[in-house]
Amino acid sequence: MSDFDVDLFVIGAGSGGVRAARIAASYGARVMIAEEYRVGGTCVIRGCVPKKLMVYAGRFVDEFEEAAGFGWTLPEPRFDWNTLMTNLHREVDRLEGIYRANLEKAGVEIVDSRAVIVDPHTVRILKTGQEIRARYILLAVGAHPVMEPAIPGGELGITSNEVFHLKELPRRIIVVGAGYIAVEFAGIFAGLGSEVTLVHRGDKLLRGFDEDVRDALAEAYRGRGITLALERTIHRLDKRPDGIAATLSDGTVLMADQVLVATGRRPNTSNLGLEQVGVSIDEVGAVIVDGYSQTVIPSIYAVGDVTNRANLTPVAIREGHAFADTVFGDKPTMVDHELIPTAVFSTPEIGVIGCSEAAARARCGEVDIYKTSFRPMKATVSGSAERVLMKLVVEKATDKVVGVHIMAHDAGEMIQLAGIAVTMGATKADFDRTIAVHPTAAEELVTMRTPFVVKKPVAVG
Ligand code: NDP
Repeated sequence: MSDFDVDLFVIGAGSGGVRAARIAASYGARVMIAEEYRVGGTCVIRGCVPKKLMVYAGRFVDEFEEAAGFGWTLPEPRFDWNTLMTNLHREVDRLEGIYRANLEKAGVEIVDSRAVIVDPHTVRILKTGQEIRARYILLAVGAHPVMEPAIPGGELGITSNEVFHLKELPRRIIVVGAGYIAVEFAGIFAGLGSEVTLVHRGDKLLRGFDEDVRDALAEAYRGRGITLALERTIHRLDKRPDGIAATLSDGTVLMADQVLVATGRRPNTSNLGLEQVGVSIDEVGAVIVDGYSQTVIPSIYAVGDVTNRANLTPVAIREGHAFADTVFGDKPTMVDHELIPTAVFSTPEIGVIGCSEAAARARCGEVDIYKTSFRPMKATVSGSAERVLMKLVVEKATDKVVGVHIMAHDAGEMIQLAGIAVTMGATKADFDRTIAVHPTAAEELVTMRTPFVVKKPVAVG
C-alpha cells in the first residue's frame, strides 16, 4: 500500500495546472487538483478569453465605418453593453464546464477549495480541513493584479479582474499603465465608444517592444481618438458627484467614470505555507524553480505565472506539460523560454517573435533591418487611416531572422506562422525564396529586399 493518497496534488486549476494534471493522469498518476475560485484560471475566467471577446466587440466599429466605401448603407449602429456581457459570461461558463469535464474524463479529482502546503508531501484542503498526502505537489496558483504604490483613493480604481463585471460601459475611462493589459483595454474601450485617456509614467507604450512598433502604435492610438498622457502618474483619486477625479503628477485633473489600473501583476504566493516548508521565493514573490520547474524542495514543483518566467498562457501550458513528462512520463523536458511568439490585442494588433532591433544590436552585433509601412488594401477603398508595419531584424553574420515585428490586422495570426520559421532558424534567404501570397499584407514579409539605411544628415557649409 502506497504511503501517499495521490501521486500528484495540483494547487490551482488554471492553464498550467490543468495541463499538468491531465497529462500526469494520462501517464497513470492518481491526481487531485484544488481550485479556490473557478476552473480555467486567469486565461479562461478573467483574462485572454473574455478579453479577446471584448476585442472583437470593439472592432465592429471599424467594419461599420469602412462598409460605406464598399457600397453598404447601414442604419446607425448601437452598442448594448449588457448583451455583450451576457454572451461573454455564457461563453466563459461553457469553457469552464469543458475544462471540468476534461479533467474528470482524464480521471483527475477536482476539489473546489483553497489548499495550502503543510509539509513537502502534505496539502491541507481549507474547506474541509482534510490533509492529503501527495508524492508530488505542483504549485500553479498564478498571479493577481496589483496597484502599487498605493495612492490616496486607489480603492476607487478597478483592475482587470473587475473590468469584466462593470454594470455599464464607462463613458469616460482612464487606463493606467502601458503594458499588454493597459494597451489592450484602451483599444477595447475606444472601440466601444468610451472616451479613453491612457496615463503612463514612461514616454512610450509597451516597454521592451521594438521602437518602431511602439511609435506606430502610439500614432495609431492617437488616430483612434485615445489620449496618451505620457510621462505622468496618478497622484490621487477622489469621488466627485460627476465621477472620479484623477489628479496627475503634473497637477492636471481628469474626470472619468472608471479608472482601470493595469500596472502589473504579482505571483499568488502569500499564505500558501511556502515559507514554513522552505520553498524559495524571489523579491517579487515568485517561486524560484530550475529548468524542470522544480523548487528547492524536491517534491514540490511550480509552473506558470507563479514562477514569473514568461507570463503567458501557452508558456504555462508548455511548462505544465513538460513537468508531467519529466516527473510521470520518464521524459525529462525543459521548456525553452528563448523564442516566444506573442501578440498584443491592441487595435491594430501587434505580433512579435524574437529580438527588437535594439536588443539584436546589443546581442548579435551587426544587423540588417528590413521594414515597410503602408496602407492596407482595404483602407485604400474604405478611406480608413489604418497603417501596417512589418519589420525583420536579420543577424548579418549568419543571415538568420532574429526578430519579426508586425502591426496589422490579424498580426497575431501572422506571427504564429512566422514563429515556426524563426523557431526553425530561418534565414533571410529562406524568407526570400518563399513565394508570396498575393494580395495579402503578409506577403511583405517575403518581398522586402533592400535593407533599411539610416540616412545621415547632410553636412552644410
Ligand atoms: P506589464 O508588466 O506588461 O505592464 C505594466 C505596466 O504598468 C507598464 O507599462 C509599467 O511601466 C507600468 N507600471 C508598473 N508599475 C508602475 C507604477 N508603480 N506606476 C506607474 N506605472 C507602473 O503588466 P500587465 O499588467 O499589462 O500584464 C501582466 C502580464 O500579463 C504581462 O507580463 C503579459 O505577459 C501578460 N498578458 C499577456 C497578454 C497577451 O499575451 N496578449 C494580455 C494580457 C496580459 P514601465 O513600462 O515603465 O515598467
